[in-house]
Amino acid sequence: MAIFDYAPAPESRDLARLKPHYGIFIDGAFRDGTGEAIKTINPATEEPLAEVAEAGVSDVDDAVRAARRAYDNVWGSMPGRERAKYLYRIARAIQERGRELAVLESLDNGKPIKESRDTDIPLAAAHFFYYAGWADKLGYAGFGPNPQPLGVAGQVIPWNFPLLMAAWKIAPALAAGNTVVLKPAETTPLTALVLAEIIAECDLPPGVVNILAGGPEVGQALTEHPGIDKVAFTGSTEVGKAIQRALAGTGRRLSLELGGKAANIIFEDAPIDQAVEGIVNGIFFNQGHVCCAGSRLLVQESIADEVLPALQRRLGTLRMGDPLDKNTDIGAINSAVQLARIRELADSGDDEGASRWTAPCDIPDRGFWFPPTIFTGVSQANRIAREEIFGPVLSVLTFRTPSEAVEKANNTPYGLSAGIWSEKGSRILWTAQRLRAGVVWANTFNRFDPASPFGGYKESGFGREGGRHGLEAYLAY
Ligand code: NAD
Repeated sequence: MAIFDYAPAPESRDLARLKPHYGIFIDGAFRDGTGEAIKTINPATEEPLAEVAEAGVSDVDDAVRAARRAYDNVWGSMPGRERAKYLYRIARAIQERGRELAVLESLDNGKPIKESRDTDIPLAAAHFFYYAGWADKLGYAGFGPNPQPLGVAGQVIPWNFPLLMAAWKIAPALAAGNTVVLKPAETTPLTALVLAEIIAECDLPPGVVNILAGGPEVGQALTEHPGIDKVAFTGSTEVGKAIQRALAGTGRRLSLELGGKAANIIFEDAPIDQAVEGIVNGIFFNQGHVCCAGSRLLVQESIADEVLPALQRRLGTLRMGDPLDKNTDIGAINSAVQLARIRELADSGDDEGASRWTAPCDIPDRGFWFPPTIFTGVSQANRIAREEIFGPVLSVLTFRTPSEAVEKANNTPYGLSAGIWSEKGSRILWTAQRLRAGVVWANTFNRFDPASPFGGYKESGFGREGGRHGLEAYLAY
């Protein structure tokens, strides 16, 4: 197979308009936090990008108070059609600053520019557009004739889709009439802080949105704050459980979007070339830092000998390297901590007897990198078949019958997503009805739309984000 050499096509780093220092955003203004400033780094080079003020516990108090004032005095009682205007404005401003946000996201997170440019940023804008449309129609959303906002929402998000996760949280909350305090992840605060700039430029009343950079302690102070009416958390199952324990008995509303270990099921009648693309997209998109990643490949035994070599050939064409290069398919791992976690779990695959195959890639000298990796000969009891790796590592298992595929797919503590590849509509429906997963894709994978609800079962959490369902988490009815 011909593999073409591509000349480098780097997007300009200057587009990110990086500032040496970023403040936290409370009550409509930026300020220094009472915590210790942190340096955020470029995971592809380990170079510091900027200094970011970190919130302390007193800043959390201030932000929650500001959000409460804004809720009581302005936002909670503003007509929906007026709130919608602000949301439309934010959506347009995200589009206008799309290139800047895409470059900034790739610098701070390590993801390829073609993903931040074509997925993260357009989808973030689409979420604001979508929920702007609901703001004056809440009485028709299926939650009674006059649903009411909950009050102040405390929201905590992870580092894998920093701006997109902020949009998933903020847009439905504001559309429903709530005010918010949001904490981005400690390794990727920059695009959320530029979103704060956009929000200020869009003249949102002060306090409606507050954004606090900081680590787990800030997240904990926020989620356990008595002035919060609703907590929305996206992150690991372990932290989700701790938050659920802390909130038990408080009467505060909670939604949790946690980890996953999705099965991607390839039946023998599947279109193999398309399925191979779907497998690649399922687990190697965003370096596998995707909660709904198709990290367990279930391939029918009769075609395993055809699918695996085709997959390996395809992986041989992926380009790993500079996230700002428009040709790059695989970017950097977000942090040294995450890289260590991936290595540890991959090593457990070796120890437990699975066979490792690594895509031929040139690994850059600096930064955090892990090449696309496939494990075959995986048994269901292996850690790499049960635990979320959150990296570019695929565990391959085989099955003989559709019932065995369903049984193996559901044999996981998680239940966030699944994929089915088959040419037979009846087989797709039969399988989808039996999979215990919040999202089931058929002949596609990792397809997102703001109109479509997303969320999990079991240890993947509860509550839905996106679509009409996403409003429910922010309404009393
Ligand atoms: P994490 O749970 O360590 O951190 C997520 C966020 O929670 C960060 O902002 C962190 O600072 C904060 N945090 C940490 N400890 C906290 C505490 N005790 N109280 C409150 N906040 C706290 O997760 P991570 O490793 O950064 O993110 C990866 C995880 O996120 C994966 O498990 C992934 O599956 C999950 N995820 C889920 C979805 C979804 O929609 N289901 C989407 C993206 C990521």
